[in-house]
Amino acid sequence: MKIPSEPIGSIPRSQELIAAITSPSNTADLQKLYDDAIHDTLSELEKTGSPVMTDGEQTKSSFVTYPLEGLTNLAAGGMTINFEDGHSRQLPLLTSGPFRYSNYAVKYLSAAQKLTKTPVKQAVISASALSLIYPPAGIEGYSQAAFIADLLNECEKDIRGCLEQGAYKVQMDFTEGRLSLKLDPSGGVLKHFIDLNNQVFDRFTKDEQQKLGVHVCPGGDHDSTHSADIDYADLIPMLFDLNVGSFYLQLASEPDRPKVLKTIKQYLKPNQTVFVGVIDVLNPIIESKQDVKDRVLEAAEFIPLNQLGTTDDCGFSPFCDDVSTTRETAFAKIKARIEGTALAEKELFA
Ligand SMILES: [Zn+2]
Repeated sequence: MKIPSEPIGSIPRSQELIAAITSPSNTADLQKLYDDAIHDTLSELEKTGSPVMTDGEQTKSSFVTYPLEGLTNLAAGGMTINFEDGHSRQLPLLTSGPFRYSNYAVKYLSAAQKLTKTPVKQAVISASALSLIYPPAGIEGYSQAAFIADLLNECEKDIRGCLEQGAYKVQMDFTEGRLSLKLDPSGGVLKHFIDLNNQVFDRFTKDEQQKLGVHVCPGGDHDSTHSADIDYADLIPMLFDLNVGSFYLQLASEPDRPKVLKTIKQYLKPNQTVFVGVIDVLNPIIESKQDVKDRVLEAAEFIPLNQLGTTDDCGFSPFCDDVSTTRETAFAKIKARIEGTALAEKELFA
């Protein structure tokens, strides 16, 4: 494909799977349930024609909490993320060091690779998101500097494990990028987040960085956002300072796409590819392939063709219990993205 197209990661889970993940007492052959869910997700994804697979994050508690599952040095009461519709998600707080992940993403990657011959990409959480679990009041005997040193090592290990396992791409989810501008309009926190994540990316070679990517969005949970009101133009200039090859940007749901595309064009660097969101994951209406084609052609007016790809605006269910979209709708939307991108490709490369 001349215009690459990739999913973000999550696909809605079945009710049975959600029940098994959220109530630990329910251990009725969990592994079989997991295997079936991944298998079913991959086979449905293959039917859409997607050239790149994901496990649909079927067995993750969420895109952000998977490295924390089962840790005993956590307490409730961390940062709260408020969504437009009034619901919120809260991070836990670390109670003691040293900080180590309980799960590394390579576990999900290798489970999926066993079930498909198509390339599999893997999403990982950012160092910046997990940096928020260190309590503002500090931890006796475990300084914030010691925590950050551990965190950077763990985040590197998470990514490196996936690269060594042959991930097609490793995508860092950076939803807190745009959110940070809501909490700190000066951009100071965003700058700090970018620096922190670059400290991880800079541990990889230039070639390895071409296999790394970053996803940003205004949040997507229960069909609601946390920072869509923040002007994208404030995020994009610093975003492209991240030392990775691929950028997966929510765009379909933006009210003024040409304005965003103009800013992307201005800041995109030569060795970077931007995957523009052509599927609005929060809208239940399934895009037609014509809709998708039009969105690609629109983006192609601004982005050089050799630096343009397509994606969905976000994962379809970043948190495991989010059932606002059905699996059928998610796969139909992905199919529209693949077919619409192919249509646009035919026209652009005619
Ligand atoms: Zn997202």
